[in-house]
Amino acid sequence: MRMKGADIIANSVKSLNVDVVFGIVGIPVIEIAESLQSLGVRFIGFRNEQAASYAASAYGFLTGRPGICLVVGGPGVLHAMAGVGNASANGWPLLLLAGSSESHQRNKGAFQELDQISLLAPHTKLATRPSSCYDVSQCIERAYRAAHYGRPGPTYVDLPADLIQGDAKDAVEFLHQPHLPSRNPAHPSRIEQVARLLRNAKAPLIVIGKGAAYAQAEVAMREFIERTNIPFLPTPMGKGVIADSHPSNTASARSTALKQADVVIVFGARLNWILHYGEPPRWARNPTIVQVDIAAEELGQNGGSSEYALQGDAGMVAKQLTASLGGWTYNTSSSYIQDLKASKEKNANAAAAKMQSDALPMSYQRVYAEISRAIKDMDVVFVSEGANTMDVARSAFNVELPRHRLDAGTHATMGVGMGYAIAAAIAYPGKKIIAIEGDSAFGFSAMELETAARNKLPMVVFVMNNNGVYHGLDEADYLNRTGPLPCTALSYETRYDLIAQGCGAKGFVVRTPEELQRATRDALQNDGPSLVNVLMDPGSKTKLEFGWLSSTKAKL
Ligand code: ADP
Ligand code: MG
Repeated sequence: MRMKGADIIANSVKSLNVDVVFGIVGIPVIEIAESLQSLGVRFIGFRNEQAASYAASAYGFLTGRPGICLVVGGPGVLHAMAGVGNASANGWPLLLLAGSSESHQRNKGAFQELDQISLLAPHTKLATRPSSCYDVSQCIERAYRAAHYGRPGPTYVDLPADLIQGDAKDAVEFLHQPHLPSRNPAHPSRIEQVARLLRNAKAPLIVIGKGAAYAQAEVAMREFIERTNIPFLPTPMGKGVIADSHPSNTASARSTALKQADVVIVFGARLNWILHYGEPPRWARNPTIVQVDIAAEELGQNGGSSEYALQGDAGMVAKQLTASLGGWTYNTSSSYIQDLKASKEKNANAAAAKMQSDALPMSYQRVYAEISRAIKDMDVVFVSEGANTMDVARSAFNVELPRHRLDAGTHATMGVGMGYAIAAAIAYPGKKIIAIEGDSAFGFSAMELETAARNKLPMVVFVMNNNGVYHGLDEADYLNRTGPLPCTALSYETRYDLIAQGCGAKGFVVRTPEELQRATRDALQNDGPSLVNVLMDPGSKTKLEFGWLSSTKAKL
Protein backbone atom coordinates (compact mmCIF):
# COMPACT_ATOMS: atom_id res chain seq x y z
CA MET A 1 0.00 0.00 0.00
CA ARG A 2 1.33 3.41 -0.94
CA MET A 3 1.78 5.89 1.87
CA LYS A 4 2.51 9.60 1.47
CA GLY A 5 5.60 11.11 3.06
CA ALA A 6 3.56 13.56 5.14
CA ASP A 7 1.48 10.67 6.51
CA ILE A 8 4.60 8.69 7.31
CA ILE A 9 5.98 11.63 9.26
CA ALA A 10 2.69 12.18 11.09
CA ASN A 11 2.35 8.49 11.95
CA SER A 12 5.95 8.41 13.17
CA VAL A 13 5.18 11.27 15.56
CA LYS A 14 1.86 9.79 16.65
CA SER A 15 3.52 6.41 17.38
CA LEU A 16 5.63 8.12 20.04
CA ASN A 17 2.38 8.76 21.93
CA VAL A 18 2.53 12.46 21.13
CA ASP A 19 -0.83 14.15 21.63
CA VAL A 20 0.01 17.78 20.87
CA VAL A 21 2.29 19.52 18.39
CA PHE A 22 3.10 23.25 18.56
CA GLY A 23 4.08 25.21 15.47
CA ILE A 24 3.16 27.24 12.43
CA VAL A 25 2.27 25.71 9.08
CA GLY A 26 3.29 26.78 5.61
CA ILE A 27 4.73 25.12 2.55
CA PRO A 28 5.92 22.32 2.81
CA VAL A 29 4.79 21.25 6.32
CA ILE A 30 1.08 21.99 6.05
CA GLU A 31 0.30 18.43 4.97
CA ILE A 32 2.15 17.06 8.00
CA ALA A 33 0.00 19.15 10.34
CA GLU A 34 -3.16 18.12 8.48
CA SER A 35 -2.17 14.49 8.72
CA LEU A 36 -1.40 14.85 12.45
CA GLN A 37 -4.84 16.35 13.00
CA SER A 38 -6.49 13.53 11.11
CA LEU A 39 -4.72 11.11 13.47
CA GLY A 40 -6.18 12.94 16.47
CA VAL A 41 -3.04 14.86 17.43
CA ARG A 42 -3.82 18.40 18.57
CA PHE A 43 -2.03 21.07 16.54
CA ILE A 44 -1.60 24.45 18.23
CA GLY A 45 -0.86 27.02 15.54
CA PHE A 46 1.04 30.08 16.76
CA ARG A 47 1.69 33.53 15.31
CA ASN A 48 5.47 33.38 15.51
CA GLU A 49 7.73 30.31 15.63
CA GLN A 50 9.58 31.82 18.60
CA ALA A 51 6.55 31.48 20.83
CA ALA A 52 5.74 28.03 19.40
CA SER A 53 9.23 26.74 20.18
CA TYR A 54 9.15 28.24 23.69
CA ALA A 55 5.77 26.59 24.26
CA ALA A 56 6.93 23.16 23.07
CA SER A 57 9.99 23.23 25.34
CA ALA A 58 7.98 24.32 28.39
CA TYR A 59 5.47 21.57 27.63
CA GLY A 60 8.44 19.18 27.72
CA PHE A 61 9.47 20.45 31.16
CA LEU A 62 5.93 20.32 32.56
CA THR A 63 5.09 16.83 31.27
CA GLY A 64 8.53 15.19 31.48
CA ARG A 65 8.42 14.19 27.80
CA PRO A 66 9.83 16.02 24.78
CA GLY A 67 7.60 18.77 23.40
CA ILE A 68 7.25 18.76 19.62
CA CYS A 69 7.48 21.85 17.43
CA LEU A 70 6.76 21.86 13.68
CA VAL A 71 7.84 24.78 11.49
CA VAL A 72 8.74 25.66 7.90
CA GLY A 73 12.34 25.90 6.75
CA GLY A 74 14.57 28.98 6.41
CA PRO A 75 12.98 31.84 8.35
CA GLY A 76 10.74 29.44 10.27
CA VAL A 77 13.78 27.62 11.58
CA LEU A 78 15.59 30.88 12.33
CA HIS A 79 12.67 32.04 14.46
CA ALA A 80 12.44 28.64 16.17
CA MET A 81 16.16 28.84 16.98
CA ALA A 82 15.14 31.12 19.84
CA GLY A 83 13.33 28.20 21.44
CA VAL A 84 16.14 25.78 20.62
CA GLY A 85 18.69 27.98 22.40
CA ASN A 86 16.32 28.52 25.29
CA ALA A 87 15.63 24.78 25.66
CA SER A 88 19.33 24.05 25.56
CA ALA A 89 20.07 26.65 28.24
CA ASN A 90 17.28 25.33 30.47
CA GLY A 91 17.91 21.63 29.81
CA TRP A 92 14.38 21.04 28.54
CA PRO A 93 13.44 18.30 26.07
CA LEU A 94 12.36 19.67 22.69
CA LEU A 95 12.10 17.98 19.31
CA LEU A 96 12.04 20.46 16.44
CA LEU A 97 10.76 19.23 13.08
CA ALA A 98 11.15 21.52 10.09
CA GLY A 99 10.54 21.42 6.39
CA SER A 100 13.44 22.15 4.10
CA SER A 101 13.88 22.79 0.41
CA GLU A 102 13.85 19.97 -2.13
CA SER A 103 16.97 17.81 -2.08
CA HIS A 104 17.77 18.20 -5.80
CA GLN A 105 17.61 22.01 -5.51
CA ARG A 106 20.14 22.23 -2.67
CA ASN A 107 22.64 25.11 -3.12
CA LYS A 108 20.65 26.57 -6.04
CA GLY A 109 18.90 29.27 -4.03
CA ALA A 110 15.76 27.22 -3.52
CA PHE A 111 12.60 28.42 -1.76
CA GLN A 112 13.47 29.16 1.91
CA GLU A 113 16.72 27.32 1.46
CA LEU A 114 18.98 27.16 4.50
CA ASP A 115 21.55 24.63 5.63
CA GLN A 116 19.54 23.85 8.72
CA ILE A 117 21.52 20.82 9.85
CA SER A 118 24.72 22.89 10.01
CA LEU A 119 22.89 25.68 11.80
CA LEU A 120 21.27 23.43 14.38
CA ALA A 121 24.08 20.94 14.99
CA PRO A 122 26.06 23.04 17.52
CA HIS A 123 22.92 23.96 19.47
CA THR A 124 21.23 20.55 19.69
CA LYS A 125 22.00 17.10 21.04
CA LEU A 126 21.28 15.69 17.58
CA ALA A 127 20.46 17.28 14.22
CA THR A 128 19.60 14.75 11.56
CA ARG A 129 17.70 14.06 8.34
CA PRO A 130 16.02 10.87 7.12
CA SER A 131 17.47 9.53 3.89
CA SER A 132 14.14 8.24 2.59
CA CYS A 133 10.54 7.55 3.59
CA TYR A 134 11.70 4.24 5.08
CA ASP A 135 13.85 5.64 7.86
CA VAL A 136 11.65 8.59 8.86
CA SER A 137 10.26 6.78 11.88
CA GLN A 138 13.69 5.66 13.09
CA CYS A 139 15.08 9.14 12.64
CA ILE A 140 12.25 10.81 14.56
CA GLU A 141 12.38 8.20 17.35
CA ARG A 142 16.14 8.65 17.66
CA ALA A 143 15.82 12.42 17.93
CA TYR A 144 12.96 12.08 20.43
CA ARG A 145 15.05 9.73 22.57
CA ALA A 146 18.13 11.95 22.35
CA ALA A 147 16.07 14.94 23.56
CA HIS A 148 14.71 12.88 26.44
CA TYR A 149 17.62 10.78 27.74
CA GLY A 150 20.53 12.06 29.83
CA ARG A 151 20.31 15.79 30.49
CA PRO A 152 17.30 16.80 28.40
CA GLY A 153 17.76 19.26 25.56
CA PRO A 154 16.73 20.15 22.02
CA THR A 155 17.08 17.91 18.95
CA TYR A 156 16.25 18.49 15.31
CA VAL A 157 14.91 16.52 12.33
CA ASP A 158 15.14 18.06 8.85
CA LEU A 159 12.32 17.10 6.47
CA PRO A 160 13.01 17.92 2.80
CA ALA A 161 9.96 18.90 0.73
CA ASP A 162 10.50 16.02 -1.71
CA LEU A 163 10.36 13.56 1.18
CA ILE A 164 7.17 15.15 2.56
CA GLN A 165 5.56 15.07 -0.87
CA GLY A 166 6.99 11.71 -1.90
CA ASP A 167 5.63 8.30 -1.04
CA ALA A 168 6.63 4.80 -0.04
CA LYS A 169 5.43 1.93 -2.16
CA ASP A 170 6.32 -0.77 0.34
CA ALA A 171 5.13 -1.12 3.92
CA VAL A 172 6.67 1.27 6.45
CA GLU A 173 7.32 0.25 10.07
CA PHE A 174 6.71 2.65 12.89
CA LEU A 175 8.76 2.69 16.07
CA HIS A 176 6.91 3.21 19.33
CA GLN A 177 7.67 5.52 22.21
CA PRO A 178 10.95 4.50 23.81
CA HIS A 179 10.90 3.51 27.47
CA LEU A 180 11.15 6.37 29.92
CA PRO A 181 14.76 7.23 30.77
CA SER A 182 16.05 5.03 33.56
CA ARG A 183 16.32 6.68 36.97
CA ASN A 184 19.68 5.78 38.42
CA PRO A 185 20.74 5.99 42.06
CA ALA A 186 24.14 7.34 43.09
CA HIS A 187 26.97 5.08 44.21
CA PRO A 188 26.19 3.74 47.73
CA SER A 189 29.67 4.54 49.11
CA ARG A 190 29.30 8.17 48.08
CA ILE A 191 25.87 8.28 49.71
CA GLU A 192 27.45 7.11 52.98
CA GLN A 193 30.10 9.83 52.76
CA VAL A 194 27.54 12.55 52.13
CA ALA A 195 25.30 11.26 54.92
CA ARG A 196 28.28 11.50 57.30
CA LEU A 197 28.95 15.03 56.08
CA LEU A 198 25.33 16.02 56.77
CA ARG A 199 25.33 14.52 60.25
CA ASN A 200 28.32 16.68 61.16
CA ALA A 201 27.05 19.86 59.54
CA LYS A 202 26.51 22.94 61.66
CA ALA A 203 24.46 24.79 59.07
CA PRO A 204 23.12 22.42 56.42
CA LEU A 205 21.05 23.62 53.46
CA ILE A 206 19.17 21.84 50.68
CA VAL A 207 18.78 23.61 47.34
CA ILE A 208 15.98 22.37 45.08
CA GLY A 209 16.36 23.18 41.40
CA LYS A 210 14.26 22.79 38.31
CA GLY A 211 16.08 19.50 37.61
CA ALA A 212 14.38 18.10 40.72
CA ALA A 213 11.09 19.49 39.44
CA TYR A 214 11.67 17.87 36.06
CA ALA A 215 12.68 14.61 37.79
CA GLN A 216 9.25 14.63 39.52
CA ALA A 217 11.14 14.10 42.75
CA GLU A 218 8.55 15.81 44.95
CA VAL A 219 7.55 12.86 47.14
CA ALA A 220 11.12 11.79 47.87
CA MET A 221 12.26 15.39 48.41
CA ARG A 222 9.48 16.12 50.88
CA GLU A 223 10.18 12.99 52.84
CA PHE A 224 13.89 13.83 52.97
CA ILE A 225 13.20 17.35 54.25
CA GLU A 226 10.57 16.25 56.76
CA ARG A 227 12.70 13.46 58.18
CA THR A 228 15.83 15.56 58.51
CA ASN A 229 14.40 19.04 59.28
CA ILE A 230 17.06 20.67 57.11
CA PRO A 231 16.01 24.06 55.70
CA PHE A 232 15.49 24.14 51.95
CA LEU A 233 15.80 26.81 49.32
CA PRO A 234 14.05 26.45 45.95
CA THR A 235 15.45 28.02 42.77
CA PRO A 236 12.93 30.08 40.76
CA MET A 237 11.51 27.03 38.95
CA GLY A 238 12.31 24.61 41.76
CA LYS A 239 9.56 26.40 43.69
CA GLY A 240 6.66 24.08 44.49
CA VAL A 241 8.60 20.79 44.49
CA ILE A 242 7.98 21.22 48.20
CA ALA A 243 5.17 23.71 48.88
CA ASP A 244 6.37 27.26 49.47
CA SER A 245 4.22 27.31 52.62
CA HIS A 246 6.27 24.47 54.16
CA PRO A 247 7.87 25.57 57.47
CA SER A 248 11.35 24.43 56.33
CA ASN A 249 11.23 26.76 53.31
CA THR A 250 13.91 29.37 53.81
CA ALA A 251 13.45 31.32 50.59
CA SER A 252 12.63 34.52 52.45
CA ALA A 253 15.97 34.26 54.29
CA ARG A 254 17.92 33.40 51.14
CA SER A 255 20.91 35.68 51.64
CA THR A 256 21.42 34.55 55.22
CA ALA A 257 21.14 30.88 54.23
CA LEU A 258 23.71 31.23 51.43
CA LYS A 259 26.06 33.18 53.68
CA GLN A 260 25.99 30.72 56.58
CA ALA A 261 25.49 27.26 55.11
CA ASP A 262 28.47 24.92 55.62
CA VAL A 263 27.13 21.75 53.95
CA VAL A 264 24.85 22.18 50.97
CA ILE A 265 23.13 19.54 48.86
CA VAL A 266 22.00 20.89 45.53
CA PHE A 267 19.36 18.73 43.84
CA GLY A 268 19.09 19.40 40.09
CA ALA A 269 20.43 22.93 39.79
CA ARG A 270 23.61 24.19 38.17
CA LEU A 271 25.93 26.43 40.14
CA ASN A 272 25.52 29.20 37.58
CA TRP A 273 24.50 32.85 37.99
CA ILE A 274 21.16 31.85 39.52
CA LEU A 275 23.06 30.27 42.43
CA HIS A 276 25.89 32.81 42.34
CA TYR A 277 28.30 30.07 41.18
CA GLY A 278 28.38 28.56 44.69
CA GLU A 279 31.20 31.01 45.42
CA PRO A 280 31.81 34.06 47.62
CA PRO A 281 30.70 36.81 48.10
CA ARG A 282 27.12 35.51 48.22
CA TRP A 283 28.16 32.17 49.69
CA ALA A 284 30.46 31.52 52.64
CA ARG A 285 34.14 31.00 51.91
CA ASN A 286 34.37 27.24 52.25
CA PRO A 287 31.07 25.41 52.29
CA THR A 288 31.00 21.84 50.96
CA ILE A 289 28.55 21.99 48.10
CA VAL A 290 27.37 18.54 47.02
CA GLN A 291 25.74 18.55 43.60
CA VAL A 292 23.14 15.92 42.75
CA ASP A 293 22.85 15.79 38.98
CA ILE A 294 22.25 13.27 36.23
CA ALA A 295 24.82 15.04 34.07
CA ALA A 296 28.27 13.84 35.17
CA GLU A 297 30.01 16.72 33.42
CA GLU A 298 28.25 19.17 35.73
CA LEU A 299 29.81 17.73 38.87
CA GLY A 300 32.57 19.77 40.51
CA GLN A 301 31.64 22.86 38.50
CA ASN A 302 32.34 26.28 40.09
CA GLY A 303 31.84 26.01 43.86
CA GLY A 304 30.72 22.37 43.67
CA SER A 305 32.77 19.67 45.36
CA SER A 306 33.95 16.96 43.00
CA GLU A 307 34.86 14.81 45.99
CA TYR A 308 31.33 14.50 47.29
CA ALA A 309 29.25 14.98 44.13
CA LEU A 310 26.44 12.52 43.55
CA GLN A 311 25.63 11.46 40.02
CA GLY A 312 22.08 10.22 39.91
CA ASP A 313 18.41 11.03 39.64
CA ALA A 314 17.26 13.65 42.16
CA GLY A 315 14.38 11.54 43.50
CA MET A 316 16.44 8.37 43.77
CA VAL A 317 19.26 10.16 45.58
CA ALA A 318 16.85 11.86 48.00
CA LYS A 319 15.50 8.41 48.88
CA GLN A 320 18.98 6.98 49.29
CA LEU A 321 20.05 9.80 51.59
CA THR A 322 16.90 9.50 53.69
CA ALA A 323 17.55 5.78 54.11
CA SER A 324 21.24 6.22 54.82
CA LEU A 325 20.60 8.84 57.50
CA GLY A 326 18.33 6.43 59.34
CA GLY A 327 16.28 8.46 61.77
CA TRP A 328 18.84 11.28 62.05
CA THR A 329 17.35 14.76 62.41
CA TYR A 330 19.14 18.09 62.32
CA ASN A 331 19.02 19.84 65.66
CA THR A 332 17.14 23.05 64.87
CA SER A 333 18.08 24.82 68.10
CA SER A 334 21.24 26.07 66.34
CA SER A 335 22.14 29.73 65.98
CA TYR A 336 21.92 29.23 62.19
CA ILE A 337 18.20 28.42 62.46
CA GLN A 338 17.71 31.39 64.82
CA ASP A 339 19.38 33.68 62.28
CA LEU A 340 17.24 32.30 59.46
CA LYS A 341 14.10 32.91 61.50
CA ALA A 342 15.10 36.47 62.35
CA SER A 343 15.92 37.19 58.75
CA LYS A 344 12.62 35.68 57.53
CA GLU A 345 10.68 37.83 59.98
CA LYS A 346 12.50 41.01 59.03
CA ASN A 347 11.95 40.37 55.31
CA ALA A 348 8.30 39.42 55.83
CA ASN A 349 7.63 42.64 57.73
CA ALA A 350 9.26 44.77 55.05
CA ALA A 351 7.23 43.02 52.33
CA ALA A 352 3.97 43.35 54.31
CA ALA A 353 4.41 47.11 54.59
CA LYS A 354 4.80 47.47 50.82
CA MET A 355 1.86 45.12 50.16
CA GLN A 356 -0.46 47.27 52.25
CA SER A 357 0.57 50.61 50.82
CA ASP A 358 -2.37 52.64 49.43
CA ALA A 359 -0.10 54.91 47.40
CA LEU A 360 -1.09 55.57 43.79
CA PRO A 361 0.12 54.68 41.25
CA MET A 362 0.33 51.15 42.67
CA SER A 363 3.60 49.37 43.48
CA TYR A 364 4.37 45.82 42.35
CA GLN A 365 3.82 44.58 45.89
CA ARG A 366 0.35 46.10 46.18
CA VAL A 367 -0.66 44.74 42.78
CA TYR A 368 0.52 41.24 43.70
CA ALA A 369 -1.24 41.40 47.07
CA GLU A 370 -4.52 42.12 45.27
CA ILE A 371 -3.99 39.31 42.78
CA SER A 372 -3.11 36.90 45.62
CA ARG A 373 -6.32 37.79 47.39
CA ALA A 374 -8.40 37.14 44.27
CA ILE A 375 -6.82 33.75 43.50
CA LYS A 376 -6.75 32.48 47.09
CA ASP A 377 -7.35 28.71 47.24
CA MET A 378 -7.56 28.45 43.44
CA ASP A 379 -5.56 25.86 41.52
CA VAL A 380 -3.33 28.11 39.41
CA VAL A 381 -0.09 27.89 37.45
CA PHE A 382 2.21 30.93 37.56
CA VAL A 383 4.10 32.29 34.58
CA SER A 384 6.24 35.36 34.98
CA GLU A 385 8.74 37.38 33.01
CA GLY A 386 10.20 40.84 33.09
CA ALA A 387 12.85 42.47 35.25
CA ASN A 388 11.37 43.90 38.44
CA THR A 389 8.02 42.40 37.51
CA MET A 390 9.47 38.90 37.75
CA ASP A 391 11.86 39.65 40.59
CA VAL A 392 9.16 40.88 42.94
CA ALA A 393 6.60 38.30 41.77
CA ARG A 394 8.92 35.42 42.63
CA SER A 395 8.48 35.96 46.34
CA ALA A 396 5.00 37.48 46.26
CA PHE A 397 3.15 34.29 45.33
CA ASN A 398 3.29 30.98 47.13
CA VAL A 399 3.74 28.08 44.72
CA GLU A 400 2.25 25.00 46.34
CA LEU A 401 2.65 22.37 43.63
CA PRO A 402 5.64 21.15 41.59
CA ARG A 403 6.05 22.38 38.00
CA HIS A 404 3.51 25.15 38.62
CA ARG A 405 5.81 28.08 37.99
CA LEU A 406 7.61 29.08 34.79
CA ASP A 407 9.77 32.14 34.35
CA ALA A 408 12.47 33.61 32.13
CA GLY A 409 14.84 30.85 33.27
CA THR A 410 18.52 30.16 32.81
CA HIS A 411 18.88 32.52 29.83
CA ALA A 412 16.66 35.22 31.38
CA THR A 413 14.78 35.12 28.08
CA MET A 414 12.22 37.85 27.53
CA GLY A 415 9.25 36.97 25.34
CA VAL A 416 8.68 33.45 26.67
CA GLY A 417 5.65 34.26 28.81
CA MET A 418 2.84 33.85 26.31
CA GLY A 419 4.23 30.62 24.86
CA TYR A 420 4.73 29.25 28.38
CA ALA A 421 1.21 30.26 29.44
CA ILE A 422 -0.22 28.48 26.40
CA ALA A 423 1.89 25.37 27.11
CA ALA A 424 0.77 25.35 30.75
CA ALA A 425 -2.89 25.66 29.80
CA ILE A 426 -2.51 22.68 27.48
CA ALA A 427 -0.45 20.59 29.92
CA TYR A 428 -2.89 21.23 32.77
CA PRO A 429 -6.49 21.26 31.52
CA GLY A 430 -8.86 22.76 34.06
CA LYS A 431 -6.29 24.97 35.78
CA LYS A 432 -6.10 28.74 35.51
CA ILE A 433 -2.88 30.21 34.26
CA ILE A 434 -1.78 33.46 35.90
CA ALA A 435 0.80 35.23 33.72
CA ILE A 436 2.54 38.19 35.35
CA GLU A 437 4.19 40.06 32.49
CA GLY A 438 6.36 43.13 32.32
CA ASP A 439 5.08 45.47 29.59
CA SER A 440 8.28 45.14 27.59
CA ALA A 441 8.44 41.34 27.95
CA PHE A 442 4.78 41.00 26.97
CA GLY A 443 5.38 43.00 23.80
CA PHE A 444 7.68 40.29 22.41
CA SER A 445 4.76 37.95 21.83
CA ALA A 446 1.58 39.89 22.49
CA MET A 447 -0.03 38.52 19.33
CA GLU A 448 -0.15 35.06 20.93
CA LEU A 449 -3.22 36.32 22.76
CA GLU A 450 -5.02 35.42 19.55
CA THR A 451 -3.59 31.88 19.76
CA ALA A 452 -4.89 31.65 23.33
CA ALA A 453 -8.31 33.06 22.38
CA ARG A 454 -8.65 30.75 19.35
CA ASN A 455 -7.90 27.77 21.57
CA LYS A 456 -10.08 29.11 24.42
CA LEU A 457 -7.29 28.77 26.97
CA PRO A 458 -8.14 29.87 30.52
CA MET A 459 -5.43 32.38 31.39
CA VAL A 460 -5.27 35.79 32.95
CA VAL A 461 -2.41 37.95 31.72
CA PHE A 462 -1.46 40.86 33.97
CA VAL A 463 0.62 43.44 32.13
CA MET A 464 2.61 45.45 34.64
CA ASN A 465 2.55 48.62 32.63
CA ASN A 466 5.25 51.03 33.79
CA ASN A 467 5.85 52.48 30.32
CA GLY A 468 9.28 51.00 29.85
CA VAL A 469 12.06 48.49 30.14
CA TYR A 470 13.07 48.35 33.84
CA HIS A 471 11.31 51.68 34.35
CA GLY A 472 9.43 54.24 32.29
CA LEU A 473 8.52 57.88 32.32
CA ASP A 474 5.48 59.50 33.84
CA GLU A 475 3.09 61.71 31.91
CA ALA A 476 4.85 64.98 32.69
CA ASP A 477 8.16 63.56 31.50
CA TYR A 478 6.60 62.75 28.13
CA LEU A 479 4.87 66.11 27.77
CA ASN A 480 7.85 68.24 28.75
CA ARG A 481 10.58 66.33 27.00
CA THR A 482 12.44 68.03 24.17
CA GLY A 483 15.30 65.61 23.40
CA PRO A 484 14.99 61.96 22.43
CA LEU A 485 13.29 59.50 24.78
CA PRO A 486 15.54 57.37 26.97
CA CYS A 487 16.35 53.97 25.47
CA THR A 488 14.33 52.32 28.24
CA ALA A 489 11.12 54.22 27.42
CA LEU A 490 7.99 52.72 25.87
CA SER A 491 4.90 54.74 25.02
CA TYR A 492 2.84 56.19 27.83
CA GLU A 493 0.01 53.94 29.02
CA THR A 494 -0.19 51.69 25.96
CA ARG A 495 -3.63 50.04 25.80
CA TYR A 496 -2.67 46.37 25.90
CA ASP A 497 -6.24 45.67 27.03
CA LEU A 498 -7.51 46.85 23.63
CA ILE A 499 -5.08 44.53 21.85
CA ALA A 500 -6.59 41.73 23.94
CA GLN A 501 -10.11 42.71 22.95
CA GLY A 502 -9.11 42.85 19.31
CA CYS A 503 -7.74 39.32 19.59
CA GLY A 504 -10.95 37.93 21.07
CA ALA A 505 -9.79 37.97 24.69
CA LYS A 506 -11.30 40.06 27.50
CA GLY A 507 -9.43 43.26 28.25
CA PHE A 508 -9.43 45.39 31.41
CA VAL A 509 -7.50 48.52 32.29
CA VAL A 510 -6.99 49.37 35.96
CA ARG A 511 -5.33 52.06 38.02
CA THR A 512 -6.48 51.45 41.61
CA PRO A 513 -6.53 48.42 43.94
CA GLU A 514 -10.35 48.35 43.79
CA GLU A 515 -10.38 48.34 39.98
CA LEU A 516 -7.71 45.66 39.95
CA GLN A 517 -9.62 43.46 42.39
CA ARG A 518 -12.83 43.76 40.36
CA ALA A 519 -11.11 43.12 37.02
CA THR A 520 -9.21 40.11 38.37
CA ARG A 521 -12.38 38.51 39.70
CA ASP A 522 -14.16 39.13 36.37
CA ALA A 523 -11.19 37.80 34.42
CA LEU A 524 -11.08 34.63 36.53
CA GLN A 525 -14.73 33.98 35.65
CA ASN A 526 -13.88 33.96 31.95
CA ASP A 527 -13.37 30.57 30.32
CA GLY A 528 -10.93 31.93 27.76
CA PRO A 529 -8.02 34.38 28.08
CA SER A 530 -8.22 37.81 29.69
CA LEU A 531 -5.72 40.61 30.04
CA VAL A 532 -5.53 43.13 32.84
CA ASN A 533 -3.54 46.22 31.91
CA VAL A 534 -2.19 47.46 35.24
CA LEU A 535 -1.17 51.12 35.01
CA MET A 536 1.43 51.38 37.70
CA ASP A 537 4.25 53.46 39.03
CA PRO A 538 6.69 54.13 36.13
CA GLY A 539 9.50 54.27 38.70
CA SER A 540 11.29 56.93 36.66
CA LYS A 541 13.05 58.26 39.73
CA THR A 542 14.51 54.91 40.75
CA LYS A 543 17.99 53.69 39.98
CA LEU A 544 18.42 50.88 37.43
CA GLU A 545 19.30 47.73 39.31
CA PHE A 546 18.76 44.00 39.09
CA GLY A 547 19.13 42.65 42.61
CA TRP A 548 19.99 39.12 41.58
CA LEU A 549 23.15 40.17 39.73
CA SER A 550 24.31 43.15 41.74
CA SER A 551 26.44 41.44 44.36
CA THR A 552 28.19 38.83 42.25
CA LYS A 553 30.04 41.45 40.24
CA ALA A 554 33.76 40.91 40.28
CA LYS A 555 35.52 43.37 42.56
CA LEU A 556 38.22 45.05 40.49
P1 ADP B 1 17.84 25.95 38.12
O1 ADP B 1 17.50 26.88 37.01
O2 ADP B 1 16.66 25.55 38.93
O3 ADP B 1 18.98 26.44 38.95
P2 ADP B 1 19.34 24.34 36.24
O4 ADP B 1 18.61 24.34 34.96
O5 ADP B 1 20.52 25.23 36.36
O6 ADP B 1 18.31 24.57 37.45
O7 ADP B 1 19.84 22.88 36.57
C1 ADP B 1 19.03 21.76 36.41
C2 ADP B 1 19.95 20.58 36.51
O8 ADP B 1 19.15 19.42 36.74
C3 ADP B 1 20.77 20.30 35.25
O9 ADP B 1 22.14 20.32 35.53
C4 ADP B 1 20.30 18.90 34.81
O10 ADP B 1 21.36 18.12 34.32
C5 ADP B 1 19.77 18.33 36.11
N1 ADP B 1 18.78 17.27 35.98
C6 ADP B 1 17.89 17.04 35.01
N2 ADP B 1 17.16 15.95 35.26
C7 ADP B 1 17.59 15.47 36.45
C8 ADP B 1 17.25 14.35 37.25
N3 ADP B 1 16.32 13.49 36.87
N4 ADP B 1 17.91 14.18 38.41
C9 ADP B 1 18.89 15.03 38.79
N5 ADP B 1 19.27 16.10 38.07
C10 ADP B 1 18.63 16.31 36.92
MG1 MG C 1 8.20 47.70 32.24
